[in-house]
Amino acid sequence: MDFGLSQEHEMVRRMVRDFAAKEVYPGIKEADRNQEMDPQVLPRMGELGILGICIPVRYGGQGMDYLSLGLVCEELEAVDTTLRVVMSVHTGLASMTLLQWGSEDQKRRFLTPLAKGELIGCGAFSEPGAGSDFSHISAAGKRKGDSYVLNGEKMWISLATKADLAMVTVRTNPEIEKASAGLTTFVVELDRPGITRGDIHGKLGVRAGSTGWISFQDVEVPLENRVGEEGEGFKVTMSAFDSGRYTVAAGATGLIRAALEASLAYARERNAFGRPISDHQLIRQKLATMRREYEIARLLYLQAGWLKNAGERNTLETSFAKHFATDASFRAASEAIQIHGAYGFSDEYDVERYMRNARGAMIYEGSNEIQTLIQAEYALKERQDKPLRMEMPAYDAEIWQAG
Ligand SMILES: Cc1cc2nc3c(=O)[nH]c(=O)nc-3n(C[C@H](O)[C@H](O)[C@H](O)COP(=O)(O)OP(=O)(O)OC[C@H]3O[C@@H](n4cnc5c(N)ncnc54)[C@H](O)[C@@H]3O)c2cc1C
Repeated sequence: MDFGLSQEHEMVRRMVRDFAAKEVYPGIKEADRNQEMDPQVLPRMGELGILGICIPVRYGGQGMDYLSLGLVCEELEAVDTTLRVVMSVHTGLASMTLLQWGSEDQKRRFLTPLAKGELIGCGAFSEPGAGSDFSHISAAGKRKGDSYVLNGEKMWISLATKADLAMVTVRTNPEIEKASAGLTTFVVELDRPGITRGDIHGKLGVRAGSTGWISFQDVEVPLENRVGEEGEGFKVTMSAFDSGRYTVAAGATGLIRAALEASLAYARERNAFGRPISDHQLIRQKLATMRREYEIARLLYLQAGWLKNAGERNTLETSFAKHFATDASFRAASEAIQIHGAYGFSDEYDVERYMRNARGAMIYEGSNEIQTLIQAEYALKERQDKPLRMEMPAYDAEIWQAG
């Protein structure tokens, strides 16, 4: 494996770091307190090409590789998790799923404007009654001539009220014995008649972002919007998670780094017992753990990104990366609060926001209990990667950068 970063990678990293530091950081506390997303964030991410970073140029993207996507997510979440969430759902769950499973017509109609930031996408899979047990979702899709009629409710959907379209998986065959074989995915424009949506307030974290619900009442969706074949929805959704989880892993790595940097700065300037607290061994231990876990988290997401570039399946490696980085980011943020003492307990410093933001990622995109089960199944050889009808394409610079 070669994790060597190119000049282009470094340029993207710098550009995103600058954007987040100069344009988002100054207003982030207020947005977090007000539980409102800054309306400038999505258009600016679109303008800068961030939203289509790893999508081929011919579909409106920047033609960079999957490692670039990880690096972008690390930089974004080092400032605020809500920025990375945009990448997880817009790029990971929506655009990359269309890149893998979409028809040429869907790539032209949906992927291209998504990559350009002209449309915003999200992934609407979870429901009030089913999250981890995804194969038992109850939203339904009934075939009616050349269209499907969708009914049901999707819950905890990031960007629910900001997105123009959603990848939506519903049950189209309630009869079939194997529940997961009865699901189908659609790309649904969110201005279709019968759709209502709203935001959820009072969340512990990601308060400067949007998390909401989407309700479907007799929503007619044309056949051309079906992503993959009827009955392939479970596979399509699991592919979406392979992309989304990667962004979560890389982002959480950025949060570890932010917690470490804040802790290093504070520990050097705060004195106790006549010396900077960074001189006390127990504080050093915390700093060393954060530093070590940052390194492990970084290597794990780079490994997953490298496999993606090579076109190799990476469900297990992405699961390792997501699981480790999200647990470690919560530990790092919590220890950062400890290092800041009472000041860490107030929003005068960023570390309490880091901890609140880190907590959600242990639950979403497959909870860390579900990641443990996935890893155990691979270890026990109860699970193997079977070839998919549509694989995520390997990165090829020539193809990706061709207009
Ligand atoms: C901030 C936020 C953003 C989100 N964004 C999106 C989004 O954009 N799109 C989307 O579709 N969903 C989204 N979700 C939903 C998220 O994916 C689900 O919350 C998650 O899959 C867990 O499902 P659940 O909440 O229904 O918990 P449940 O599935 O009810 O699980 C409850 C608890 O039981 C554990 N558990 C469940 N089954 C097992 C088992 N077999 N063994 C051991 N433990 C188990 C879980 O790990 C969890 O700890 C978001 C959630 C949050 C909090």
